[in-house]
Amino acid sequence: MPEAAPQFCIPADIPQRIFRAYDIRGIVDETLTHNIVYAIGLAIGSEAQAQGEKQIIVARDGRLSGPALQAALSRGLQDSGCDVIDIGAVPTPVMYFATFTLQARSGVVITGSHNPPNYNGLKIVIAGKTLAEDKIQNLYRRIVEKDLEKGVGGYSKVAVIDAYIKRVCSDIQLQKNLKVVMDCGNGIAGSTAPALLKALLAPANGELIELYCDVDGTFPNHHPDPSVPDNLRDVIAAVAEHKADIGLAFDGDGDRLGVVTSAGEIIWPDRQLMLFAKDVLARNTGATILYDVKCSKHLASVIQENGGQPLMWKTGHSLVKAKLAESGALLGGEMSGHIFFKERWYGFDDGIYTAARLLEILATDATQNKRSSSELFATIPDSVNTPELKVNIPEEEKFGYMQRLIAQAKFSNADMITIDGIRVEFADGWGLVRLSNTTPCLVLRFEADDQTALKRIMKLFRTQMLAVDSSLELPF
Ligand SMILES: [Zn+2]
Repeated sequence: MPEAAPQFCIPADIPQRIFRAYDIRGIVDETLTHNIVYAIGLAIGSEAQAQGEKQIIVARDGRLSGPALQAALSRGLQDSGCDVIDIGAVPTPVMYFATFTLQARSGVVITGSHNPPNYNGLKIVIAGKTLAEDKIQNLYRRIVEKDLEKGVGGYSKVAVIDAYIKRVCSDIQLQKNLKVVMDCGNGIAGSTAPALLKALLAPANGELIELYCDVDGTFPNHHPDPSVPDNLRDVIAAVAEHKADIGLAFDGDGDRLGVVTSAGEIIWPDRQLMLFAKDVLARNTGATILYDVKCSKHLASVIQENGGQPLMWKTGHSLVKAKLAESGALLGGEMSGHIFFKERWYGFDDGIYTAARLLEILATDATQNKRSSSELFATIPDSVNTPELKVNIPEEEKFGYMQRLIAQAKFSNADMITIDGIRVEFADGWGLVRLSNTTPCLVLRFEADDQTALKRIMKLFRTQMLAVDSSLELPF
């Protein structure tokens, strides 16, 4: 701790809306003040001790507000009686890694992920479980009801990045010299991914071309969010310029990966997952592979054709991680870009490790089959689809609307899947309507074998959705 550490207090008013489905997130100095983060630290420390956990790993991403918020969080944890293990500025997956490798199974990272520079937030693991939904609300309840422990916790610093790199390098060796372009978008992946990739590429004389790998919390080049095609423009251009084998991009806290082939084509996460599923199933026949309701229907076919068990689940990285542990699946992933390896890894979402596994597959395939990344991904099925479409709906109406839609909707010759909203699968495509967990919106997505089928399915959804509420403004 710095000398003359500032004094914190529990604020009288804490905005409940910052306690979201999968994390806590707010605007720094507005909905997320130092005192609020201090109070959250007290609540996390109290909850951890209720579960028999006294040691908590604390980390932050590269945002300018990170050091002060981390100090407030640490103070809160210590004042609740927990010992803080400070691992400094690291990607979120490195914090998760620490919860498996240090003497603590709980950890908190201060991160705003891909959000604008003035945002920040917390992702929380207690006793090996990432907090979601009611567990996050329970922290709010503890603060409001002053259900908080008091104590005097210790503080120590531990460096983890070198151990993380060593662990990945012990798992993955590349058989061929690859030329890789990597764009960290000035996010905290820059603290770890360049050193790791250099270590992986060096033995076979590979080459790494770095874009925006210096950590800069103002994000001066582009937003660190590879789910937005615009943010992949520079990596696509650099792949072409350098005739690289592959382009990689990370989100702001390094738990999501964007992929661009040697031909400059963006490979969305559900198609990344098809490639990873084939690879994992080649060694593990019969394994379960998990994916969220937004993913392509081809994923189920690819998993089955390769001897695996497909398992569709709700959207939300905390929910997918929990289901992965419960189901024993060896691989999981989400359309948002979170990919979880349980085979040879720990089962948390890790964009950097995912990148390393992709390089392993590319190097092996280039050696055995002499294919480029573009040729390899051409063997993975594709389809016509829409991006996520959002429909505004008042927060207080959205749950009722979804219930009525599920009860009233009539789709013939189709399978209705209702694990998260309603996904209707036809022979030639599917449509999805689900509730956003984080915004007053319905989220839709469509996929089909061709444009005609896509239009037909979208029209069917339009009719059914308007029959439930004719005032909805649909963007299709
Ligand atoms: Zn992230």
